[in-house]
Order: sequence, then structure tokens, then C-alpha cells
Amino acid sequence: MNNDDPMKVSVLSSGSSGNVTYIETNQHKVLLDAGLSGKKIKNLMDQINRDLNDVDLLFVSHEHTDHAKAVGILARKYPSINVYANQETWDAMAPHIGDFPETQKNLFLPNTTQLFGDLDVESFSVSHDAANAQFYNFHHQGKSFVVLTDTGYVSERIAGIIKNANAYVMECNHDIEMLRYGDYTWDTKQRIMSDRGHLSNEDGAKAMMDIIGEQTDNIFIGHRSHHNNMKSLAHLTVSSILDEHDFGLGDAFNLLDTDVEQVSGLITL
Ligand SMILES: [Zn+2]
Ligand SMILES: [Zn+2]
Repeated sequence: MNNDDPMKVSVLSSGSSGNVTYIETNQHKVLLDAGLSGKKIKNLMDQINRDLNDVDLLFVSHEHTDHAKAVGILARKYPSINVYANQETWDAMAPHIGDFPETQKNLFLPNTTQLFGDLDVESFSVSHDAANAQFYNFHHQGKSFVVLTDTGYVSERIAGIIKNANAYVMECNHDIEMLRYGDYTWDTKQRIMSDRGHLSNEDGAKAMMDIIGEQTDNIFIGHRSHHNNMKSLAHLTVSSILDEHDFGLGDAFNLLDTDVEQVSGLITL
């Protein structure tokens, strides 16, 4: 293992209104999702001293605006960015991404691994109300980084695939009580709570307990809802569940907060 060449990641923005994550290795500068305006993404990249002109890979999880808003804009403005999504996601994005440069369009089938020099990227299907949502596990020099948001539940299959990564972004979308008593329509509440919706704070914590391993150092609490959650509440709920089960919080690993349009700073894996 070459320790001079670590993978670095920064959660540039995470929440129900905009998701962008940055990953880099020696050979690649990568974005996962582009769910804000191009201008805002550029601004967030500036904050970690990185340049969109250097980005060569963009992986898209699914077509929802909070993940795909700037996919077309970034591809047209930065010809070096190769964009990857599965066919159903491409089809669902098509009406919203304008005239997309064909040469930058690439397929990434669900539940497959593609090799990009020093970076292996593994896709896995999730259960969400989109055309065919998939998230990704990034592998580099024996270390791995997983983003898992926008899923109604975490199956044993998914848990098996993403177990014992070095870092995670894990969805903690809503507090069940805030959602239940909040002002969303009954239909929307049902959709969010369904098997094809989003993980609650409790669900997120339970999923963490299934996947945390000896290698795990950092877990970002991700994709928090503006309406049905609060940063402090999500953090408290997750940390108390992990503490109750003796998960060595703060000792074995860190639990980190995220926010929309607030960069996490680059962490080294
Ligand atoms: Zn989302
Ligand atoms: Zn979604």
C-alpha cells in the first residue's frame, strides 16, 4: 500500500435540496452527483482549492434535481468531464439536461465495477422512487468510501457490499415525529416513509451498526431534510443509538455533520 497517495474526499453539499461530493486520487478528480447550480458547485470547489477544469469523472446516482441539476451544464462547460449513469437514469434525465455532448456520455450498469486507473468504482442499486437509483463505493489502494442516501431501506445485500469502508456518507433524512406531525401531505409522508423513500435518523443509525467495521474512521450524517429534521437532532439521535450499542463513538470513529452548500473540508482516507 502506498501511503503517499491517499484518497481524499469532501462532502461539498448534502441535504434534500442539493448533493455534491468530491473525491480525488493521484489520477482522478471526481464528483458524485451535481445537485446544485453550476455556479454554486464552482463556488464550493473554490472553498477546497479545487478546480472544476481538473475534474474528469462525474457519477450520477439518479435523476432527482437535488442530485442531477447541473449535469448538463457542467458537461457543456467542462469538456474534460466524463459523466456516468445507468440507462434508466440517462433516459429520465434527458428532458432536463439540455443538449448533452454525446462523447461525454457513459453507461454505468447497476451492481457492476468499473476500473479507472488507480480508482475502482462499484455501483449498487438502492430502493428509491426514481427510475433506477444506484449509489457508489469508491476503492483506492485498499481503502474505500461509500455514499448511500436516497434509499427506503438498506438490504442485507447492500450492507454486504458496503461493509467496513473507511468513510461513509449515510442518509439520515428525517426525524419520524417531525415528519409525522409536520405539514407535508399524507401522500408525501407515505412516500418518504415507504420502502422506496428515505432513511430516517433511526434507520440511518441502524444501517451504520450493520456496516461499521475496524477500518471505519468517519461517518457523515447526510441528506438531511430541511423540513423534517435538524442537524442537532439527527446527530443526537444517531449518537445515542450508537452509544447504547457500545459502538465506540469518538474513539473508534467520528460522526460528522453535513449541510447544504457547506463544504466538509477534505478528509484523507
Ligand atoms: Zn436526494
Ligand atoms: Zn432522490
